[in-house]
Amino acid sequence: MKSIVYLCRNLTLGKLIRLENGKYYIQNQETADLVAKFGSPLYVYDGNKIEEQIERMRKAFSGVDIKLKYACKALTNLSIMKLMLKNGVDVDVVSIEEVKIALHVGFKPNQIQYTPSGVAFSEIEEALELGIRLNVDSLDLLEKVGQKYGNAHPIAIRLNPSIMAGGNLKISTGHADSKFGIPIEYIDEIIAIVTAYDLKVVGLHQHNGSDFKDSFVIVQAMKKSMQVAEKYFPNLEFIDMGSGFKVSYHADDHVTDIEELAEDVVKEFNAFCKRYGRDIQLWFEPGKYLVSESGTMFTTCNVTKHNPRRNFVHVDSGLNHLIRPMMYDAYQDIVNTSNTDESDTENYDIVGYICETDTFGSDRILPKVSQGDILAIKNAGAYCFSMSSNYNSRVRPAEVLVYNGKTYLIRERETMADILRNQPEIDF
Ligand SMILES: *Cc1c(COP(=O)(O)O)cnc(C)c1O
Repeated sequence: MKSIVYLCRNLTLGKLIRLENGKYYIQNQETADLVAKFGSPLYVYDGNKIEEQIERMRKAFSGVDIKLKYACKALTNLSIMKLMLKNGVDVDVVSIEEVKIALHVGFKPNQIQYTPSGVAFSEIEEALELGIRLNVDSLDLLEKVGQKYGNAHPIAIRLNPSIMAGGNLKISTGHADSKFGIPIEYIDEIIAIVTAYDLKVVGLHQHNGSDFKDSFVIVQAMKKSMQVAEKYFPNLEFIDMGSGFKVSYHADDHVTDIEELAEDVVKEFNAFCKRYGRDIQLWFEPGKYLVSESGTMFTTCNVTKHNPRRNFVHVDSGLNHLIRPMMYDAYQDIVNTSNTDESDTENYDIVGYICETDTFGSDRILPKVSQGDILAIKNAGAYCFSMSSNYNSRVRPAEVLVYNGKTYLIRERETMADILRNQPEIDF
């Protein structure tokens, strides 16, 4: 059984960018043609893969009143967000700029959940006055919202359950040393402020990090919110469990099995609703789960170079365009789309063109790479373009969406004018 599941996963992994008669395709588009048309490096997203992920989550959680809020910081391209809106997915935002992007895309204010971390109160005021929904992240903010607005705006409270989860300390947010959320130990202080200002608390929120692997962690965390709900908050509309679902970056990765996780969660949540006296909504805020696998970054080999110990492939990109390997020690699968001859391989380090160590992958066995070959970096949908920069004064790549067999340019490649923009010419 395990091996069947494993095999299916590998099939889905291979499905996105697939090899047919020696050529790579995304849907019906030959990837070499996309790069020829839109230039290198290039981000390409498969919109139907995103819809597949949405449906898979909805189906898995169909036993409860589930609501999805796309954590758009993973990939904020307007067209990707529009696709979410079209599919009935709401949005989770973390800055006033993301609030404005979501409004620009066409989300209604009450479809936008704002989960700020230590932002200026002026941003909170601006968001609340636009009708945006707020997850309150500190006692200080709870007090300020109470003082200024009383019960005029429905709010949710972000709890920190003191649980260690997440693939890496940089992306773990629910542990005792984390800056995020209000520690559950402060429940008396929370209740005191809520009572003093008659705050309208409609939800309890948690988001405990990215890349957690085991479903028991989320069930354990959810139980903490449910206990708080039963004891203190009889009028909730939802419990929001954030996100952090791990997707497959590596064929051997232990990923979140969403169906298995959902089975446990649905059982616990329905039992809770019974005790609570009515059915409320269960929210998730998936970012990575919805968009990671949909994305591929294509980059071209500029130079191959040897030293006595390593074979380097230098590509026309770097940590300025895709920082996850350097930032999180993340593994990104890489294929040589220009040479599919598996009988003639070498061990490579795929590195960028930035004047800083910017390794995309070490010790990768690939069919021989020559200058001009196009490499594909898989799973480049989440936290890749959205974390890109102009470091080394490089322009950012274009983004393309393939959806229902059609190709859309959804962001133009930057130009030198973008690099020079906003810098006045000073006459010394
Ligand atoms: C980043 C973030 C998410 C999404 O996390 P993923 O690991 O991408 O699914 C969800 N909720 C909040 C509040 C976040 O900050």
